[in-house]
Amino acid sequence: MIDFDTQHILHPYAASVPSTDIHLVKSASGVYLELENGEKIIDGMSSWWSVIHGYNVPELNAAATEQLSKMSHVMFGGLTHEPAIKLAQTLLSITDENLEHIFFSDSGSVSVEVALKMVYQYWNSQGNKDKTKILAFSKGYHGDTLGAMSVCDPITGMHSAFEGVLHKNIFAEAPECMFADEWDEKYIEDFKAKLQKNYKIIAAVILEPIVQGAGGMRLYSPHFLKRVRELCTEYDVLLILDEIATGFGRTGKLFAYEYGEVSPDILCVGKALTGGYMSLAATLTSKKVMQGVESGGNVLMHGPTFMANPLACAVANASLELLLNSPWQKRVLDIQAQLEKELRICEELEIVQEVRVLGAIGVVELKEDGDLAWLTGEFIKRGVWLRPFNKLVYIMPPFVINEEELRVLTSAIYEVLRVYSKK
Ligand SMILES: *Cc1c(COP(=O)(O)O)cnc(C)c1O
Repeated sequence: MIDFDTQHILHPYAASVPSTDIHLVKSASGVYLELENGEKIIDGMSSWWSVIHGYNVPELNAAATEQLSKMSHVMFGGLTHEPAIKLAQTLLSITDENLEHIFFSDSGSVSVEVALKMVYQYWNSQGNKDKTKILAFSKGYHGDTLGAMSVCDPITGMHSAFEGVLHKNIFAEAPECMFADEWDEKYIEDFKAKLQKNYKIIAAVILEPIVQGAGGMRLYSPHFLKRVRELCTEYDVLLILDEIATGFGRTGKLFAYEYGEVSPDILCVGKALTGGYMSLAATLTSKKVMQGVESGGNVLMHGPTFMANPLACAVANASLELLLNSPWQKRVLDIQAQLEKELRICEELEIVQEVRVLGAIGVVELKEDGDLAWLTGEFIKRGVWLRPFNKLVYIMPPFVINEEELRVLTSAIYEVLRVYSKK
């Protein structure tokens, strides 16, 4: 089977004939992935931020099975259903009160596309044809579709590979004021200058609140977010917050923007929305934005085939119920405390630049790019699944991980990096 895979199946950001090993997962349960040879390894990645309750969760299985026996899908044009209505009610009640409308889509990238279409249409419908640019940030990541890519970091987002194809946007320097740093107005100067100079052509600002994820795993000051919000309001530019990675408790708040006490005009959620069971995302927005979009009799021009898929919505409802009725915040803060204690010692190693921790996110930044294939192999030998990229070895385990399981992860990181530093 692996042979067929390596010859025919493409994997994320990988050569068609991959240079690193690929591992077959037979099943998964709790925080464990079971490999082909029966070996069980602890998942430190939550399958890219999404599997917050672990795998094979009885409550989520039950919700999927129950919905399956009613209907797994029905078109959303002209029809609606209880799973979508319930999910909308919950999402609108747990997010900022300014958000009153919701658009369901299939993936995070598409929820960003929808957000971008909302802001373009918001200005266009009101007769403003100049506001066609997005002010985004270096080191930002918002997805892999063309619109989303056009607001990703121009370097790590590989804009050069799509030269002449992507919409040209404006980029401010990445937030330099790290999470616990003392605030200074100088940190916002670059953003402010670009906004001041270009606000007439800027439709919106897009930003990942508090954690810049795939673009560098950087944790920045809530004060920065607060200033971005204030300046967007001052210059009449909409603010899109991308909580696809950070949403649903990962940072220690239900949504990371709560750290900055700000209110987004548009909010994107995805990844952990279904507890990692299936692909579902949503774009939430305010009455003001929808009224703008609909000026002159227009409507938002988007409508995916699998919009608000009932099966995905039913699982999302069960996942949110499980999350909100669990001591998620205590769990995440306990994980934070343990990561702080057990990852910090990596800073002793010569090859390590810095350790950063927030909520259930732990990042060990190396001074140089790591050898992905070697590191991954060593991690598996120690019973853990981690997938470093470039200089970053990072973990975001399921919230249900216990102290011992988490220690297996953190000691594997320390041990492997210790060996690596002597290589
Ligand atoms: C993963 C991610 C996306 C894209 O989501 P997909 O479901 O992979 O399309 C967008 N923004 C952020 C912040 C993400 O982490």
